[in-house]
Amino acid sequence: MDRGIRIARLFGINIYIDWSWIFIFLLVTWNLTAFVFPALHPEWSFGLHLLTGVGASFLFFLSVLLHELAHSLVAKARGLPVRSIILFIFGGVSNIEREPPSPGTEFLVAVVGPLTSILLGIVFLILGGSTAFNSGLPLDSPMLALRQLDPLPTLLLWLGPVNIVLGLFNLIPGFPLDGGRVLRSILWALTDSLRTATRWATLVGRVVAWLFIITGIAMAFGLRIPFLGTGFVSGLWLAFIGWFLHSAASQSYQQVLINDVLEGVQVERVMRLGTPTVPPGITIDQLVEDYLMGTDEHAFPVMENENLVGLICLDDIRKVPRTEWNNTLVSQVMTPASELEVVSPRQDVMDALNRLTRRDVRQVPVVQGGRLVGMLRRRDIIRWLQLHDDLSTSR
Ligand SMILES: [Zn+2]
Repeated sequence: MDRGIRIARLFGINIYIDWSWIFIFLLVTWNLTAFVFPALHPEWSFGLHLLTGVGASFLFFLSVLLHELAHSLVAKARGLPVRSIILFIFGGVSNIEREPPSPGTEFLVAVVGPLTSILLGIVFLILGGSTAFNSGLPLDSPMLALRQLDPLPTLLLWLGPVNIVLGLFNLIPGFPLDGGRVLRSILWALTDSLRTATRWATLVGRVVAWLFIITGIAMAFGLRIPFLGTGFVSGLWLAFIGWFLHSAASQSYQQVLINDVLEGVQVERVMRLGTPTVPPGITIDQLVEDYLMGTDEHAFPVMENENLVGLICLDDIRKVPRTEWNNTLVSQVMTPASELEVVSPRQDVMDALNRLTRRDVRQVPVVQGGRLVGMLRRRDIIRWLQLHDDLSTSR
């Protein structure tokens, strides 16, 4: 889903900032300006704390963007279309349009993000370290050296570890974290089944998410956790991330269930037969009077001499002012056959559903050998899914 403000277009990928991102940007900047840098350099002015804080925060989110760009560019190089990158409250998301075709591709696309973060971290550490080293600081006493650092090395030596932690955090094997995708690709290669692999990877993802939630709540109540510390805000934050990961894992699992139910089901089993068709030469008035009233169809195939020439749906009719209904012909407002998405009866319903979603339409004509054989409607697919989900005991 594309949302928020578009800030750039890089390598043909739209980069968006979600509104929630502004909150996290301000929070990180405030934390640096008010706590982290004043603790290290109490002698700096507020202006310098703020400048360093904003700079560090900005470079941090640039690092997050580079992490996502790494995912996206490898995906593109492997032939997967990438629609957008969104920065939001929990980091970044690359919207890759298709599931990876092979475990190898999934592995590469997933692993390159954390690797980029870790590499960036090392580069920042080297840059910051060499700047500090060149200025002849007392390196035998790290704490003393740290306190004497200029703003630039301070900022770099903060960015380094933060990026490395970000990279390592993303390698936690909880789907949909990058590490979870790496795990899924390995399971996929081992079991030769994307469904089985996703099922297990999302299960591990849910367990990891629950661990985050429980640990976070424990921290919020004052328990001290090794490496994570304690505190109400950081505990709540961890629990919040856990909750987000849990819902994302559940969604992926639902996608697997849909794939499961629709696997091997062909369009002809779900399509609607005997949909009323209309001729192109009638007016909208006639269409409404003679066809639309007394039916719950939303769309009508337009037929001329047994040939499908277009499709007219409620949305097309709504575009015509009521006063024009008696002198506007169906052929003038219908979607012509040349622009129409059609499916064949032997096609997989899953493929067809993806096409419906991509084109944002509610139905497509089913055509075989140039002849209309039925209509595939989104609501019929949903009914099929509900029916089969209700019947299955393993929910
Ligand atoms: Zn990532």
